[in-house]
Amino acid sequence: MPAKPLLLQGGRVVDPASGTDAAADVRIERGTISALGQGLSGDGATVVDCRGLVIAPAFVDLHTHLREPGREDAETIESGSRAAALGGFSAVCAMANTNPVADSAAVVEQVFNTGRAVGLVDVYPVGAITVGLEGSTLAELGEMHDSKARVNFFSDDGRCVQDSGLMRRALEYARAFDAIVANHAEDAGLAGDGAMNEGEVSGLLGLPGVPNEAEELVIARDLALTRMTGGRLHVPHVSTARSVELIRAAKAIGVNVTAEATPHHLSLTDTLVASFDSVYKVAPPLRTRADVDALRSGLIDGTIDCVATDHAPHAREDKEREFDKAPPGMLGLETAFAVLSTELVATGLLSLGDLIVRMSTAPARIRNLDGHGGPIASGAPATLVIFDPEARWVVDAARLASLSDNTPFAGRELQGKVVHTLLRGKFSVRDGEVVDGQG
Ligand SMILES: [Zn+2]
Repeated sequence: MPAKPLLLQGGRVVDPASGTDAAADVRIERGTISALGQGLSGDGATVVDCRGLVIAPAFVDLHTHLREPGREDAETIESGSRAAALGGFSAVCAMANTNPVADSAAVVEQVFNTGRAVGLVDVYPVGAITVGLEGSTLAELGEMHDSKARVNFFSDDGRCVQDSGLMRRALEYARAFDAIVANHAEDAGLAGDGAMNEGEVSGLLGLPGVPNEAEELVIARDLALTRMTGGRLHVPHVSTARSVELIRAAKAIGVNVTAEATPHHLSLTDTLVASFDSVYKVAPPLRTRADVDALRSGLIDGTIDCVATDHAPHAREDKEREFDKAPPGMLGLETAFAVLSTELVATGLLSLGDLIVRMSTAPARIRNLDGHGGPIASGAPATLVIFDPEARWVVDAARLASLSDNTPFAGRELQGKVVHTLLRGKFSVRDGEVVDGQG
């Protein structure tokens, strides 16, 4: 028997895909939006009071580390899916640096199937560019693309493809099926054993640094190779002002490139490392205020197409090592929306509609994820986030759904809270709690 229809009543619908920003009720039947408008009848439906809330297409994350298979002590596909749903996401792209590496049809299908079985968000596996992330032999991109997981996004993230010839071949190979190559931009020689941003603060602290140029050289090279091959490049976690300039200039001459920035690079600086708390260690490293400001400008003008979390859980015994020995990475799924709502929307730098473009509409389009990113329209799947734009809350690392607790936002008061998340008409989160047993 089909579930009872739902009526989302009294909310404000903000949907960039259809250009909607208006008060409207949303009626949902059998997973699909059946009507949209003011004063819809609640007859026969479960009515959800959405007064004071915003209804938007659920968020899409192009950059998530779920750690399964291999490090299920840090995160699993299930725990990461719970974190994602609580953060308002309906789709996450699971990075390939697992153990075994997601460099074959077998592993990407395993990740895809587990995501479906959990059923809280759609998990789209990212395929490795090179076998075992070793950076020497191209992986079977075509085999992963033709698998049930239909992979159209490839990355060795965590590691950079250093060999320019190999990167060229990856772009050419992926072009055959209009797939995207995303390269973690970090020149190995320049990065060395750097543990933080190279600059004034690293000098004061006596920690080895990673210069901006380690990122910029690789982005400049990859943009040149993308132009040369006619391939599609996505630049993950842009962190420096000059990287933004490089991408802006490449777009101006028609290079097929998209780019993302993380909530942490858009809000935090390297001065936090003075605490020597390894929660602030991340790759690429937190940079300077000037870099943060340039990233914000790039996000506002669209040079940076989208936000991605780079959610990177680490078990406590790993992350609690000394700063220069601890693994890089921060949690992101459960705080991304609130951090950006607080830092960019509440401060008037970015409109709420543009934040929804950057967190939902744009990333869904980049990966061609039908059914995500809107539109909110009659006949479309009811895959929605419903949030309170005014609610304030304090991040409690111990209460996150992630199995790890390495959030740099612990103890921060944020504005903007996800209340409900819907995946094809079913609540994955209701009143701030995960709804299990989706079936
Ligand atoms: Zn990376």
